[in-house]
Amino acid sequence: MPELRQDFATKEWVIIATERAKRPEDWVRQEPLEPLPEHDVNCPFCPGNEAKTPPEVFSLREVNSQTNGPGWRVRAIPNKFAALAAPPEESPRLVRSRHGLYLQMPGIGYHEVIIESPRHNKSPATMSVTEVVEIILAYQTRYVELDRDPNVQLITIFRNHGPLAGASLRHPHSQLVATPVVPLHIRHRLYEAQRHYDALGTCVFCDMLDFELQEKERVILANEHFAAFVPYAARVPYEIWIVPREHQASFGQSTIEQAAGLAAVLQAVLSRLYHGLGDPDYNYVINTAPHHSSGEPFYHWHLQILPRLTTPAGFELGSGMHINVSLPEEAAAHLRSAGEPDPKKTAED
Ligand SMILES: [Zn+2]
Ligand SMILES: [Zn+2]
Repeated sequence: MPELRQDFATKEWVIIATERAKRPEDWVRQEPLEPLPEHDVNCPFCPGNEAKTPPEVFSLREVNSQTNGPGWRVRAIPNKFAALAAPPEESPRLVRSRHGLYLQMPGIGYHEVIIESPRHNKSPATMSVTEVVEIILAYQTRYVELDRDPNVQLITIFRNHGPLAGASLRHPHSQLVATPVVPLHIRHRLYEAQRHYDALGTCVFCDMLDFELQEKERVILANEHFAAFVPYAARVPYEIWIVPREHQASFGQSTIEQAAGLAAVLQAVLSRLYHGLGDPDYNYVINTAPHHSSGEPFYHWHLQILPRLTTPAGFELGSGMHINVSLPEEAAAHLRSAGEPDPKKTAED
């Protein structure tokens, strides 16, 4: 029997199609991606090609290395093909205007690329935790900096991995988009979280995290600062949430200590996806409170990983409702065991 499950935070219903459910081994990538060289002379993100990108706005680099030259470990640059135009010097207050009955406003904001490693063939799944910490530090620094612009309402940090996830360049990178409006998707989440808080006086995400840690069935792993689990009403196979254990509405409030905790969990989870499913394409996104809700007791930032193992079709597009053909508990169990050494392999080696 298929089952409908409701997401506790968003109140979204999902069809868990257990009849059509696939086994964990069915999701493993059959044809591995073409291996990449460590350096590609034609790649604009590889060291030595810094002049091919806009000047950097942040970098972590070796002492004595020159800004906009090689010697960096992580580097943030404005996106050359930005979705929103950077404001001129002093950001003018953005105003909405009318086109007949329609509303419009200038497309001002920020669109940046965080180049995660000088090595062309790396990804967080194959990096050391120390390397991932530096990526998170770059996210935090750029977040805090751009959040100061009064026109910025929401900052979305995301990573597209693989062609199905929309990655056009293979060199490891994440992106950040700062928008002058709060999109409907986030408004809806805030609204539901506030309703929960008004009724029960608790944060819906804190409640969900407590329940998951108590039930353990969908938990993949946890450390002092973060927990990773497959949500009860996962919308896609192997959806994963990484949630800070301390209540925090905005990613901008996260500390350096938490950066290390997040890096450890994120690296471990991505490594399990890599080994457990053969490096699937995925998007991850940091879902955070908008600027004016950054201190709210009802919102709680989290990182969502959405593997691209299935393609949304007509029903999903028409209804907005997802059909998930993987059982969340089974996905969590598979990812838990993907981190443990394979007993068969050790016996053979
Ligand atoms: Zn490259
Ligand atoms: Zn909370």
